[in-house]
Amino acid sequence: MNIHTHNLGFPRIGAQRELKRALESYWKGQSNADQLQATAHTIRTHNWLLQQKTGIDLIPVGDFSLYDHVLDMTALLGAIPRRFEHISNQNPLDLYFAMARGTAEQPAMEMTKWFNTNYHYIVPEFEHDTQFRLTSERLFQEIKEAKKLGINAKAVLVGPLSYLYLGKEVTPDLQRLDLLPRLLPVYREILQKIAELGVEWVQIDEPILALDLEPAWQDGFATAYQALSDTNCKLLLTTYFGSVAHHAALIEKLPVDGLHIDLSHAPEQLDAFRSGSFAKKTLSLGHINGRNIWRADLSQTLAALSEISSQLSGDLWIAPSCSLLHCPVDLALETKLDPEIKNWLAFATQKLEEIVTLGQGLKSGKAAIQEKLAISDQASQSRKTSSRIHNSVVHDRIEHLTAQDSQRAHPFATRKQQQQQRFNLPLLPATTIGSFPQTTAIRQARAAFKKNELSHLDYLSAMREEIRDIIHKQEEIGLDVLVHGEPERNDMVEYFGEQLWGYAFTENGWVQSYGSRCVKPPILYGDVYRPEEMTVTWASYAQSLTKKPVKGMLTGPVTMLFWSFVRDDQPYADTALQLALAIRDEVVDLEKAGIGMIQIDEPAFREGLPLRKQDWQTYLNWAVKAFRIASSGVKDETQIHTHMCYSEFHDILPAIAELDADVITIETSRSRMELLDAFVKFSYPNEIGPGVYDIHSPRVPDASEMLELLQKATHHIDVKQLWVNPDCGLKTRGWPETRTALQKMVECARLMRNTL
Ligand code: GLN
Ligand code: ZN
Repeated sequence: MNIHTHNLGFPRIGAQRELKRALESYWKGQSNADQLQATAHTIRTHNWLLQQKTGIDLIPVGDFSLYDHVLDMTALLGAIPRRFEHISNQNPLDLYFAMARGTAEQPAMEMTKWFNTNYHYIVPEFEHDTQFRLTSERLFQEIKEAKKLGINAKAVLVGPLSYLYLGKEVTPDLQRLDLLPRLLPVYREILQKIAELGVEWVQIDEPILALDLEPAWQDGFATAYQALSDTNCKLLLTTYFGSVAHHAALIEKLPVDGLHIDLSHAPEQLDAFRSGSFAKKTLSLGHINGRNIWRADLSQTLAALSEISSQLSGDLWIAPSCSLLHCPVDLALETKLDPEIKNWLAFATQKLEEIVTLGQGLKSGKAAIQEKLAISDQASQSRKTSSRIHNSVVHDRIEHLTAQDSQRAHPFATRKQQQQQRFNLPLLPATTIGSFPQTTAIRQARAAFKKNELSHLDYLSAMREEIRDIIHKQEEIGLDVLVHGEPERNDMVEYFGEQLWGYAFTENGWVQSYGSRCVKPPILYGDVYRPEEMTVTWASYAQSLTKKPVKGMLTGPVTMLFWSFVRDDQPYADTALQLALAIRDEVVDLEKAGIGMIQIDEPAFREGLPLRKQDWQTYLNWAVKAFRIASSGVKDETQIHTHMCYSEFHDILPAIAELDADVITIETSRSRMELLDAFVKFSYPNEIGPGVYDIHSPRVPDASEMLELLQKATHHIDVKQLWVNPDCGLKTRGWPETRTALQKMVECARLMRNTL
């Protein structure tokens, strides 16, 4: 048996986000294509040499991308949507970015979430006459580049089934799976070319195997891999993000040379493969979590690897669970992290080292890696016992939670009456989702404060000035329920994380979200505890300026969890409960301070859904419970709002109703109120604010458009249940367009009221 280490993909954005800067300067016309390609080349070279130097045996080539790896496949396969064909004779880079970002005439190709990660890919568009044709040399050039550097390359491709599955039909009566026979010859051609370049292995990613697949798609696998079996490449069928054991019978029969499985997210799936055909061929085991930032427990992982290796007669490969794309690049760049916490972490660079260490340990025995094991043992021990992580006050509270804690005092119908009496709002009350434009002045003040150029007091008074101004503007516009505008918040998760115990922050922990856009999730490492109020002073100040109700504004437990790097030493459900308690305390304090309406945002509620339907209910149970605990500490007369954007609701409406928020505001304008259908079908009982205008572009809609959407809503939902609001927060917009759009929105609400 041979033991090899390999990697499935490395972050492409660069340790200091070099690619982001190069892309944005190219798009602005401040640099040319050669300069952009030079930066890309430097990052690739750096990544390959780093992996080589660390001692990774097989290094991925083709994982780099200027924008997105699915879009790269579209370019490689020549599957250019017809609406972009007119630019296909231009510079290929322009065509590529036109598809990614749109042009003056053509909107960009759609973008959507890569499984349940925060990475977004560009959705392939399929038409009846979509033809596939090898049109790009990029992959082959990169292989040559790598070979020149002496890199032991393994080529990376998105597999044909996943490629089709992740796309969408844009012409009616087309089943995209029917395009498979047209697609396969091009894949064969690609594989042949790769083989000719002297590359032995191809990592063919088929992450859709972790999903529930209809029989036709399952059959597609057999057809496709039969057709690809006689090229001169060896194929490593690569799966990740979840178990593929439910497709084991299918996978076992595929004529491929190796299989990669994700043992970080689904360790139990090893049993489905440990004695099958891949035990005699090549089995690649992804124990090292490619999606999180925790240091591995090397002793434990080595023990697991040793146990399985004794059963295999084929080769064993050691790998991260998935591409390291979802991890920041290098922990060594973090200079401000507390050393104790830093010692618990591993970013992409450190994960490579872990993989190499495990390989050495497996090949040469424990003694060969004694020192590294000792360091790793010490780190796991410290994480298990550190008083920074474990807080008995939090544990006590969780233990003493009762059923009442996740239950408002009375049902919605009773609460509604009391709230009606208290607030005396008109029909169709007009409000906003929370944030108002983050102006340059606001950003500058915050930057100056962070650099110590502005004193804390001066910063606070600058923000108060903003709030005063925002309240004043809202009164002028004529909104019924106001907000303080969130000027003091950099980000809806970071802002709260900074005030809670159990959170840490990085300087460079960037992860690509899409294209040049990156996010820097905070690290949720320990028991969550709220030492003092987080928003009460701001909310009370805002309320003191107006007679209209001001909504307090909080981020919910589920969103706080999914938009962070979450601790892996306890179930998500437990972490969510801790977050819920912290938010509950804030909700109660807001109520005490006289804030009558409190909004708890949960935009990540839907994205937390597991990949397979059978696992949904378990998730929904804890997610709903967390929200209810956060929101149930208040009296009937206090109105709880929640907000969710970019969500489909049709298959989770019972859970949304169980949240029992008095008011939910949702994004509906881009779907022209279609997303509201689910609420109608379900006879959703509480109040709803379907967004009447899209806030994602500076365009100000006509009042007639908003009115039409509002009318549509009133046709289906009792007007007594409806609110009027934009789709989401306004922080990315400018003031002039915001003012005009909101004035029109308020006008629409008035017009509608008059017709009732
Ligand atoms: N209250 C937040 C805002 O208005 C909500 C943001 C969101 O849903 N993503 O900015
Ligand atoms: Zn939103």
